[in-house]
Amino acid sequence: MTEVDRHSYGAQPYDVHPYDVVVIGAGGAGLRAVIEARERGLSVAVVCKSLFGKAHTVMAEGGCAASMGNANSNDNWQTHFKDTMRGGKFLNNWRMAELHAREAPDRVWELETYGALFDRTADGRISQRNFGGHTWPRLAHVGDRTGLELIRTMQQKIVSLQQEDYAETGDYESRIKIFAECTITDLLLDEQRVAGAFGYWRESGSFVLFETPAVVLATGGIGKSYKVTSNSWEYTGDGHALALRAGATLINMEFLQFHPTGMVWPPSVKGILVTEGVRGDGGVLKNSEGKRFMFDYIPPVFKGQYAETEAEADKWLADNDSARRTPDLLPRDEVARAINSEVKAGRNSPHGGVYLDIASRLPAEEIRRRLPSMYHQFKELADVDITAEPMEVGPTCHYVMGGIEVDPDTAAATISGIFAAGECSGGMHGSNRLGGNSLSDLLVFGRRAGLGAAGYVQGLTRRPTVSTTDLTAAIATALAPFERAVDAPDSENPYTVHAELQQTMNDLVGIIRKPEEMREAIRRLGELRDRYRRVAVAGDRHFNPGWHLALDLRNMLLISECVAEAALLRTESRGGHTRDDFPAMDPNWRNTLLVCSIDQAGRAADPLVPRVTVTLEEQKPMQPELLALFDLEELGKYYTDEELAGHPGSEG
Ligand code: FAD
Repeated sequence: MTEVDRHSYGAQPYDVHPYDVVVIGAGGAGLRAVIEARERGLSVAVVCKSLFGKAHTVMAEGGCAASMGNANSNDNWQTHFKDTMRGGKFLNNWRMAELHAREAPDRVWELETYGALFDRTADGRISQRNFGGHTWPRLAHVGDRTGLELIRTMQQKIVSLQQEDYAETGDYESRIKIFAECTITDLLLDEQRVAGAFGYWRESGSFVLFETPAVVLATGGIGKSYKVTSNSWEYTGDGHALALRAGATLINMEFLQFHPTGMVWPPSVKGILVTEGVRGDGGVLKNSEGKRFMFDYIPPVFKGQYAETEAEADKWLADNDSARRTPDLLPRDEVARAINSEVKAGRNSPHGGVYLDIASRLPAEEIRRRLPSMYHQFKELADVDITAEPMEVGPTCHYVMGGIEVDPDTAAATISGIFAAGECSGGMHGSNRLGGNSLSDLLVFGRRAGLGAAGYVQGLTRRPTVSTTDLTAAIATALAPFERAVDAPDSENPYTVHAELQQTMNDLVGIIRKPEEMREAIRRLGELRDRYRRVAVAGDRHFNPGWHLALDLRNMLLISECVAEAALLRTESRGGHTRDDFPAMDPNWRNTLLVCSIDQAGRAADPLVPRVTVTLEEQKPMQPELLALFDLEELGKYYTDEELAGHPGSEG
């Protein structure tokens, strides 16, 4: 089943690997999908462009949200569901939010059966910490290194499954094989169904073809299109672009999360994340006047739910049944906008951020125990001792709420054989994600994607096949940057084009968006797309980062266009999308999704970076039992009167 077959096309040799399911991405979503598809008896390849174990999931610090009710027994899935919908400003795919809230506790407990070791409460249960937008302490965590434990545990589970397979077949890799440092550049179809995935080995540059009827895209986010970001080099929107070019649709691409607390100094580390766990454990935001400014920024939709004085906020920290929560832990979009306003008003710290103070709130020893990574991060990168002085922080591009449009139950995209989970899928988080809800999302929907893909493959009567024409095109696209002369007068350098793309997105489609700036961004993206055709790289295919970037750029340009076009169309402010000219939420937009697609004509006109079409789509109305969980008064802040006519509390 997993034998390598060596082929060649012209002078280009490539390896062929047949698998039932190919999971692209080895973060939390990908690994959980692998486990599930293998448990159903299928052969699974897991392909990742970085080293195995090095994914964004490993960087996750604060924790994984699940309403286990260990730290406060009032918690339940209904409250988690409501918090998630509120955080996403009711634009979320409510079915995904429901499945997520219901299934997250089981997924966390299941991790313990794989060998995870979470921090404990005094009576030995999994400890849970406070986080922005969560009513109760809900984040299961391992210090501030939760993602590392998640990945470690799932890798361990995969090894144990491989040992079972060895006992049965004599081959450890008979059902699960890992292809690390291998980048997928194109999906190949057979009559609108997935037939394969094509890519290259980063080290040798040689080509590889996976013949498969099903792919699970689990490639994470798009942050590397922005200059200031918490994301690492792999987040170039590959899964988003692979799906889009294959004919699937993306939704919600205008919604990007700017995490309020990234490092602002020194310049070389600008954007690196400062976990929300600092505020969850009592840290407070202050401006240059020493004022805890978040009390001035509680928006009308959250009025009444947050503490209005410092005394009340501090009381809540000691006992969260006795008072309302601190506004330092408002959802991230609110806090990021508040910091932006303080800086704009000139009440900023010396390097253009605000202060985050944990030093005056907890004993030094406790800070080092609870936040070891943060302590080391600041000590080593900025020479700041966070047990003695405040940190300087400011917003950083962190997470994309938008992604591949999927069926909530099966994770199937709109093209047969494509499944998607984790950050590259869309819908679950609506217009803004709550902290901690990504790790739980990966587990819940990674599992569902593995199940969905397995069910799809088992139901097939014919395996799709890859055509030579498509394979030839994929090889030609991958080799194109070498076809151009680097010293030609009009040749372009991939690093220059990337830097200009990042600057454009940062300056013109950032936290606060203006129509004229977004139009300018779209114009510049058009120019960059033209220049991209002239990108040339020197050398050969052996570990050639310039070539790798040239191929990643194709994806970043396409996805950046989705973000800019959708942002220009949505004439309201909601969650991670703030319009300078439409500062309020508009109930008429609440139920509207912006769907990005590429039509046949667009594909034919420019197969390299085709133009994107954005259309409006209505979401299905929420199930009445779920709607009834909310008070009519609260829903009135988000819904139109007509929509609420059917609510049990409504008079009409
Ligand atoms: P990832 O874990 O990023 O995995 C993506 C995988 O896809 C990688 O293996 C990559 O190599 C591979 N890949 C990408 N493109 C290709 C390609 N073309 N071919 C082959 N492979 C490819 N969320 C929380 O819930 N709680 C937290 O505390 C938290 N803290 C965070 C801290 C930081 C610093 C960051 C950056 C994020 C944090 N998040 C947190 C968000 C969360 O970590 C991510 O959203 C989540 O881990 C994404 O998981 P994923 O499985 O979708 O993708």
